[in-house]
Amino acid sequence: MTGTGVGPELLRLSGVSAAYGHHEVLTGIDFHIHEDQFTGIVGPSGSGKTTLLRILLGIVRPTTGTLERADGLRISYVPQLETINWNFPVTVAECVLMSRAQGRWTPRPTREERDAVAGVLDRLGIGSLAQRHIRDLSGGQQQRMFFARALLRQPQVLLLDEPTSGVDVSTRHDMLHLLAELHEDGIAIVLTTHDLNGMAAHLPHLVCLNHRVVGEGTPADVLTPDVLEATFGARMEVLEHLGMRVVIDEARDASSRSAG
Ligand code: ADP
Ligand code: MG
Repeated sequence: MTGTGVGPELLRLSGVSAAYGHHEVLTGIDFHIHEDQFTGIVGPSGSGKTTLLRILLGIVRPTTGTLERADGLRISYVPQLETINWNFPVTVAECVLMSRAQGRWTPRPTREERDAVAGVLDRLGIGSLAQRHIRDLSGGQQQRMFFARALLRQPQVLLLDEPTSGVDVSTRHDMLHLLAELHEDGIAIVLTTHDLNGMAAHLPHLVCLNHRVVGEGTPADVLTPDVLEATFGARMEVLEHLGMRVVIDEARDASSRSAG
C-alpha cells in the first residue's frame, strides 16, 4: 500500500479557491486523486477540510480554478456524524437502500437491491441490525451504516469527513482496518481528520490544510513541529515510537479530557 497516488488520475483541482460570500476559506489549492490514493487531510477546525470535500463532490463550486473529473466517476461520501438528522424515521436497511435510489424512496426494492444491501451490511458486521431504527444505533454502528450506504454504490473514490470523531478506540481501530481493506480492493480513499495520533499517523499520505496546503507527504514528512505549527498555529512536540510519529499536543489532550 503506497497511498501516494501513482495510478491513473480520477480527480484534479488546479488553483482552486472557495468562499462563502466574501469570506474566502480555501486559496490556491492543487490536489489530485489517483486510483491508488489513500490520503488524510489534516487541519484544525475551520481550516476548510469539509469545504474541500464538498468541492471534490461538486456541491461547492470553486470561485477560481478548475475541477476535472474522470468520465463517469463514481464517488461516495460518508458525512460527519454530527450533521445527520437522526429522527428521520427509517431502519438501517432502508437508509442504506436510499443511497441506491439516490434519495427517492422506492417502496418495493427489487430482490437484487435487497441482496446488495444485505451484502454490504454483512461486510460491515451490522447485518443483524438491518431492521433497527437508525436512531437506536451506537456511534460506531451509525458510522458503519454510512459506510454501507457509501459502498452500495460501488464507488471508485470514497470521501469521509472526520470518520473517527465521536467513536471509541476500538471502533476507530476497526475503521482503520476496513479502510485499508477497501484501499487494497482498489478504492481511492480521502478522509479528513484532526486526530493526529489515532488516525493521521497511520495513513500512508497526508495533506496539511490551513486554508491553503501547508505540507504534503508521509507522516514522517509532515508530522514535524514546523509543519504542525503552520497547520495548527501552535508549537507541538513530536516523538518517534517504534518508527511511528507521536504528536504531543498538551492543549488538545487537556481539552479533550475535560470535554469527556
Ligand atoms: P473544517 O471542516 O476544517 O472545520 P469548513 O470547511 O467546515 O472547515 O469551514 C471553513 C470555514 O468556512 C469556517 O470558517 C466555517 O465557519 C465557514 N463555513 C463553512 N460552511 C459554511 C457555510 N455553509 N456558510 C458560511 N460559512 C461556512
Ligand atoms: Mg469539517
